Amino acid sequence: MIGDGMGTAQLYAGITALRDNTNIARCPVAGFVKTFSADEYITDSAAGATAYSTGYKTNNGYLGVTPDGAPKETIIEMAEAKGLSTGLVATASITHATPAAFYAHLSDRDNYEDIARNILNSGIDVFIGGGWNHFTKRSDGKNFADSLVKRNYVLARNIDDIEKATSHKLAGFLSDEQMPRYSQGRGDMLPVSTAKAIELLSGNKKGFFLMVEGSQIDWGGHANDLNYVIEEVVDFDKAIGKALDFAMKDGETLVIITADHETGGMAITGGDMKQGKVEARFTYGDHSAVMVPLFAFGPGAEKFSGLQDNTDIFWKCVELQKLGAK
Ligand code: MG
Ligand code: ZN
Repeated sequence: MIGDGMGTAQLYAGITALRDNTNIARCPVAGFVKTFSADEYITDSAAGATAYSTGYKTNNGYLGVTPDGAPKETIIEMAEAKGLSTGLVATASITHATPAAFYAHLSDRDNYEDIARNILNSGIDVFIGGGWNHFTKRSDGKNFADSLVKRNYVLARNIDDIEKATSHKLAGFLSDEQMPRYSQGRGDMLPVSTAKAIELLSGNKKGFFLMVEGSQIDWGGHANDLNYVIEEVVDFDKAIGKALDFAMKDGETLVIITADHETGGMAITGGDMKQGKVEARFTYGDHSAVMVPLFAFGPGAEKFSGLQDNTDIFWKCVELQKLGAK
């Protein structure tokens, strides 16, 4: 689970707003993650997510490829090859950098139309986010919604259809481009979609891999908007609760919660835990270099304590799930 732009200040603002009553606190293991990319001390979300999805650092803006453009197998592709079920849930478009790094291989995170093409044959069982237009209003005139139906996906265009879904191939497009922020119409889309994805994917006896992104913590940081950051962290914590509820019952599921980078150079300058009040200042409107927090629950969680590189997360997952072995 990736809180885009969720540094310790963003997370602590959410913890305070929730009056110290969070789901993330149920994780017994914590660590820190270094986020620098191949070409920059300060990463962007494309390189950050590629480190998690492939185990290789790449240049900012690149998805699923090394700095020389060579495609690297993603953890979703490895899981698919082993017969696991796979899914992606995001509060951005499903073609946005973070989810895209898990299935696309190209050096331009802004090329949404080519990114959309990459998902068609990815084998991903369940994906839910925005980005309908990148599949249906394309400059090449193609209709990839039809292509998905031909590949046995059920399409969902609203949260009610997500909640009712029983198909094990589900493509949820809940907005034409990006999703609105929590308080401007998105509501509980993230926790509801997370719970549904887990329900659909967990039927596979071989197991499943799911990436859930709280995409807009980052956008609140870019906007230097404390309330935006807080509502997105609180929403992300609800989704964390859905994952932990399942993992606690299941006993065989590892949940990892981290971030790709910090956004806004945010500092908490005051607050009140009992009243859930936070004051904060932002240093500027872009990502910062600071290491980000990681929390883990479940079998193998202890491997994720201490200080680690973003690429280490991938290799630890591959080892734990024996994804590299044929
Ligand atoms: Mg993102
Ligand atoms: Zn950003």
